[in-house]
Amino acid sequence: YVPPAYDGPPAEEILRKRSEFLSPSLFHFYKKPLNIVDGKMQYLFDESGRRYLDAFGGIATVCCGHCHPDVIEAIINQTKRLQHSTVVYLNHAISDFAEALASKLPGDLKVVFFTNSGTEANELALMIARIYTGCHDVISLRNSYHGNAAGTMGATAQSNWKFNIVQSGVHHALNPDQYRGVFGADGEKYANDVQEIIEYGTSGHVAAFISEAIQGVGGIQELAPGYLPAVYKSVKQAGGLCIADEVQCGFARIGNHFWGFEAHGVVPDIVTMAKGIGNGIPVGAVVTTPEIAQVLARRSYFNTFGGNPVCTAGGLAVLRVLEKEKLQENAFLVGSFLKDRLRHLQEKHDIIGDVRGMGLMLGVELVTDREAKTPAKAETLQVMDQMKEMGVLVGKGGFHGNVFRITPPLCITKEDAELLVHAMDL
Ligand code: PLP
Repeated sequence: YVPPAYDGPPAEEILRKRSEFLSPSLFHFYKKPLNIVDGKMQYLFDESGRRYLDAFGGIATVCCGHCHPDVIEAIINQTKRLQHSTVVYLNHAISDFAEALASKLPGDLKVVFFTNSGTEANELALMIARIYTGCHDVISLRNSYHGNAAGTMGATAQSNWKFNIVQSGVHHALNPDQYRGVFGADGEKYANDVQEIIEYGTSGHVAAFISEAIQGVGGIQELAPGYLPAVYKSVKQAGGLCIADEVQCGFARIGNHFWGFEAHGVVPDIVTMAKGIGNGIPVGAVVTTPEIAQVLARRSYFNTFGGNPVCTAGGLAVLRVLEKEKLQENAFLVGSFLKDRLRHLQEKHDIIGDVRGMGLMLGVELVTDREAKTPAKAETLQVMDQMKEMGVLVGKGGFHGNVFRITPPLCITKEDAELLVHAMDL
């Protein structure tokens, strides 16, 4: 693929406008900011036509590839017919996508509420749980990211993502972190902390426990085995609902399962999703059981754009591409290959403290001292810059910003994986 010649404004002009007219909270990953003008499957292109392997995937969002022809076709066809109406009227795009999503979920999880983002999906999930249980207390994990509106910022548990606004009613439990955590890989020991929060920090009843199965923003942290089943049991006993935030880890990304919670053998009461379900089209969803969904029947509850026909027609096309191109299987195969190669790299370079994750949701943590696990913050940025020079883009995360986040489109090949490892092998 050769992208068309770029005839837009020069990077310096875009940069000037960005500094003047966009939020001051935006930051650059690279010494020389990157101007991306084209995307094709797993690759991005800058204004000079230079190709990059997009191993960040638009923050774990582009699952079937940039500008996938089937997704574009579905969006164009729907846009030509009907770009927007309202959920007050019938429309098959929204109903078809809801049915398709429900068919991917276990048990009674089949009532879908569409939102425009992951944040909104989690806001709604927390609200549903609070109304359903009549309780306000929510438990989330230290190191989790659930969004940046008032309620979800409360559930998000890292100071660098929080502002001093009212974020009431959330208790943050010990993170079942297998690399740094005090109990190593013993999930049940970490789960005791949730039980203690329920006993000592609440009335004994809670509204919900919310967690990712693999923490994305928190630095690709897998929850210790045995943790979720034990916690789900405690939370259910305390009358609470269990919410699986699948915004980042769901939708085939982890390879061996379609959803992250399936890797832990639990069935949540509410599942939230966004990012990958639209492959970049802004769409999110909350899925729950008919019984729990009844709480919203007491009022009018919908929003203007949630379930927009262009977004839901696009979402349905994404789901079909995932199945047609067997992208979950590819995420498993290429992801396992890549993880193995990264582990070899770890043997060679002391700076790589940990390699973790599943499928195509992988993390590489850099440390200046393997024993002390001292975060290698400056080095992480340096290596990212060098990788960019070699044509590979990765994300970064973790509390100290010292973890590479590898969340590419699920269509990457073993050759792409080799290129990534080569670029990291400095
Ligand atoms: N939940 C998780 C696990 C996320 O990773 C994110 C975003 O990174 C969100 C929620 C918030 O989603 P959005 O940025 O679409 O609001």
